[in-house]
Amino acid sequence: MSDRPVPRPGLLTIAPYVPGRSQAAPGVAPVKLSANESPLGTSPRALHAFNQAVSEGLEIYPEGTSKHLRVALGEVNGLDPDQILCGNGSDDILHLLAQSFLDVGHEAIMSRYGFSVYPIITAAAGATLVVAEETDYTADVDAMLAVVTERTKMVFLANPNNPTGTYLPATELERLHRGLRPDILLVIDSAYADFVTAGDYTAGIELVDNARNVVMVRTFSKIGLAAARVGWMYGPREIVDLVNRIRSPFNLNRPAQYAAAEAARDIEFNTRLREYNADWRDWLTQSLNSNEMRVVPSQGNFILVLFPDAARASAAFQALYQQGLIVREVGDSYGIPNGLRISIGPEDAMRRVVGILKDFGGRP
Ligand SMILES: *Cc1c(COP(=O)(O)O)cnc(C)c1O
Repeated sequence: MSDRPVPRPGLLTIAPYVPGRSQAAPGVAPVKLSANESPLGTSPRALHAFNQAVSEGLEIYPEGTSKHLRVALGEVNGLDPDQILCGNGSDDILHLLAQSFLDVGHEAIMSRYGFSVYPIITAAAGATLVVAEETDYTADVDAMLAVVTERTKMVFLANPNNPTGTYLPATELERLHRGLRPDILLVIDSAYADFVTAGDYTAGIELVDNARNVVMVRTFSKIGLAAARVGWMYGPREIVDLVNRIRSPFNLNRPAQYAAAEAARDIEFNTRLREYNADWRDWLTQSLNSNEMRVVPSQGNFILVLFPDAARASAAFQALYQQGLIVREVGDSYGIPNGLRISIGPEDAMRRVVGILKDFGGRP
């Protein structure tokens, strides 16, 4: 007998999630470019709905299935609200999916530089994570299919991926799905779908419609509502029904439900955000690509800049940091020690980032 409560096996092997930094060096105004948040603020319509809901009082439990939001999402995306499940951020939903389908002895697959939450939720469910190598910082369908075993129960794919920004086109996503047994759940994490401009991309809705083993997970965090914590999933009825059974009964607070419903409907704001993001993503990519510095082509609201070595990346981080520009180091949490992830932020900050990083292009 132990002298204290003993956690489930595997939990202590989980490295705690490290969020992007938000503290600036002393004496300078911080610009947070480390968490892929919206540089254009929150949709005014969403903010108004949030405040309106708050002003009505907070003493009553919210409607438990987030129906108001599901109906809005159904209308905007042409989906059946009964096939939608909402979560306290999409991390909430990813956790619920892992808890619903993974167990001790099972395996879940992700690609090498996939989102850092997948290892956490896999271990929390007692299962084993299997990592498939990537090709040039992009998920590799053949490599992912090659590591499938009879113990595989789940495959996680962020598309586009964080922190690389790369994506798989629809044909590759379909090929991945075709290669999986019907008892393996494909989780398509389309957290950055709102920023994609590539014509051959799909967020995954048709895949869900044509299969029983695919779900698509989305979030409002990157389009101006990170503080409200709202994510959603579109999936087959039986999976939505299953996950609803273990979901916390009131997982989404009422102001958040109402704010997100308006955010979904605010096409004008979302379009402006997508266009702003694409313009500055292109500009940053062109401005920073040089012989000594490489920007991985991104479809997200951030770019991954690769330096010749880790020392150069950390010097660049420090130089930005001293000027209040806080970007994301991706060494410890993602295994890319020579990289920095930079969110597309305010125009002035983007120009300053390029000015500072240009100095790191050449030899030190
Ligand atoms: C930001 C992010 C999420 C989740 O965010 P929530 O704030 O929990 O909705 C999920 N997947 C990826 C790949 C992300 O980058």
